[in-house]
Amino acid sequence: MPELPEVEIVARSLSELLTGKKIAAAALYREKLSPAHSPESFAEKLSGKTIETVGRRGKHILLGLSGGTTLIVHLRMSGRFTLLGTGEENPKFTHAEFFFRDDERLVFEDQRHFGYMNIAETVRLHETPEIRKLAPEPFSEEFSIGYLKEVLRSTKRPVKEVLLDQTKVCGLGNIYAAESMFLARVHPAVEARKISPVKARRLHTAIRHVLAESIEAGLAARLDRSNIENRYFNGSTNGGWLVYDREGEPCANCGRKLRRIRQSGRSTVFCPGCQRK
Ligand SMILES: [Zn+2]
Repeated sequence: MPELPEVEIVARSLSELLTGKKIAAAALYREKLSPAHSPESFAEKLSGKTIETVGRRGKHILLGLSGGTTLIVHLRMSGRFTLLGTGEENPKFTHAEFFFRDDERLVFEDQRHFGYMNIAETVRLHETPEIRKLAPEPFSEEFSIGYLKEVLRSTKRPVKEVLLDQTKVCGLGNIYAAESMFLARVHPAVEARKISPVKARRLHTAIRHVLAESIEAGLAARLDRSNIENRYFNGSTNGGWLVYDREGEPCANCGRKLRRIRQSGRSTVFCPGCQRK
């Protein structure tokens, strides 16, 4: 599942390649991809529109179109975009297609079928169910230390759950939540309200750090434009994680064996020495 940094990379790639392009025609092949629209209305709302901006809010990609509408895209588990030229075949699980005037086309493929698209009026974007409840962007001023302290202080839920809740903290998934808690020395199962001000401050710094570092790594990784893989914008970066996916390996900080804990069906690897309750 792409988390904020991967979605940011996808959005920046799409912005570079698509800004200014006019959608000559659009096709929706899997209706559940965009439940609010029939294939006819999907095609009608997008055809003839120019892609003016490509941005991101949380894990949603936002394609700002001429005429005041925005295409909202969530990649979920396996959604990805590919820009194809004439004579190149569609991938097996192509669920939507956007044709441009220059014979290029953007294909949305999704092997796991969890992807999601919607079309909204741009001025009402902040009122849509997708965007309305999202917490502040992690790099925004609103996401202050004070904000995070207040979020943590107000709940008995385990901190890991709070970090994954997009209405509380925006953009983290299983990977960056685990990495942030390790850097901040916070135990995944500790009650959020019991986290000390010092640890809350460290967590705030850690969240921004892991996200920023991963965006940088992702940008560096796709500098080679001749590499065909760069045309697959699923954005996944193969990071060297400190704890994620490293159960049983020694902690980079103290050398103790990293352990795995399961909470509400999601697991987190952590250091029992560095991250005490
Ligand atoms: Zn340790």
